[in-house]
Amino acid sequence: MVRHACKHVRYYSRLFKSLHIEKDDIRTVEDMSKIPVLTKDQIRNSPGEFYAHPSPFEFSRTITSSGSTGIPPPILQGEEDLAYDAAEHMREFRAWRVDLRKRWALIRTHHGLPRLESHVQKLFYRNCCLSSVYEDAERQIAKLRSVKPHFLYIVPSYLSYLIEVGVRKDLELFPLETIFANGDQLARRASEMVVNAFGVEPNNMYGTAETGAIAWQCPEERRHHLNVDNCLVEFLDENDEPVGVGEKGMIVVTCFHNPLMPLIRFSVGDYGVPSDDVCACGRGLPIMNDLLGEIRDVLLFGGRAVNPFLLERRETLPSGIAWTRFIQTEPDELTVQFMRTEFSRSGCEEQLLSRIQYVVGSDVHVALAEVDMVPKDPYERLVRVRACSGQ
Ligand SMILES: [Zn+2]
Repeated sequence: MVRHACKHVRYYSRLFKSLHIEKDDIRTVEDMSKIPVLTKDQIRNSPGEFYAHPSPFEFSRTITSSGSTGIPPPILQGEEDLAYDAAEHMREFRAWRVDLRKRWALIRTHHGLPRLESHVQKLFYRNCCLSSVYEDAERQIAKLRSVKPHFLYIVPSYLSYLIEVGVRKDLELFPLETIFANGDQLARRASEMVVNAFGVEPNNMYGTAETGAIAWQCPEERRHHLNVDNCLVEFLDENDEPVGVGEKGMIVVTCFHNPLMPLIRFSVGDYGVPSDDVCACGRGLPIMNDLLGEIRDVLLFGGRAVNPFLLERRETLPSGIAWTRFIQTEPDELTVQFMRTEFSRSGCEEQLLSRIQYVVGSDVHVALAEVDMVPKDPYERLVRVRACSGQ
């Protein structure tokens, strides 16, 4: 993949030239440290620089991630990449003894299924009902009650939002055998709510739109197995040096299966703790002890729950705004931290304010607070939406 990127991807060919690295200089995992870590901002600023030319395959689609750092970078994915991702998920489902012949539901941030050209994709999605996290909770619950999925693959904070609305409006939920959670992480209170509502603890799947499946929770010890057949996972400190076993490090991923848009040493923005333990299940995949991904609380204003994804969706962010974070300071007050893009125009603040006001309701006092950079602390997970109830 490094050789391919060096030859066909503008960003990497320039980078290697500027660092005087030849493509054959990268032969081992240790050699990878010669390549600088890549951030989401770099892709967002010039996504075309990361597309392979000429494209090795006909591309399937451009998707965007959940927007967890503001305007998400566009990601190009091919059929091969998507088929591999489906196969990874099938392995995880199988470990949890899930029967893919039963009906299930996938609720996520991007729309539409890929073109189902490969057998593995057809097999994986054949009994899947697809829905969106931007759907209103009452409509979503009604839909799921009629679909009757046996298991659910869902973004945890959206599941919390469904439960908050369901409990407040006394709606009958739907029985589930298993829940797979992917996208962010449940706060402790939200985790208890899920167990109370459905009687099952969610199984965490860890991956991003940019990289595909990175890790998954094993039923044996509930620790995470790393998908080292899909990607190289490194855990780095603030100087981009590897942390030791048992130490917290930022998760940096090199994908093996997306030649359309190779991402090498991509910092996904989360933190994990590598382990050299061997899992009791007998699988040879390495273990990650802790995962510190982003958290989104569900905001409640006068007992009304706000869908956290409506706050962050593309349509809410005017052009010129690169990043936002939502902090509820009082029961009826919301502070929105935001960062501009370098091409920010005047008037985007007013647009941001009115769009957020529309989502949260006119009875909430919204205050904007501009920040110069995304607050970063290598030892703290990022809370993108924080409720004042301290969930
Ligand atoms: Zn295991």
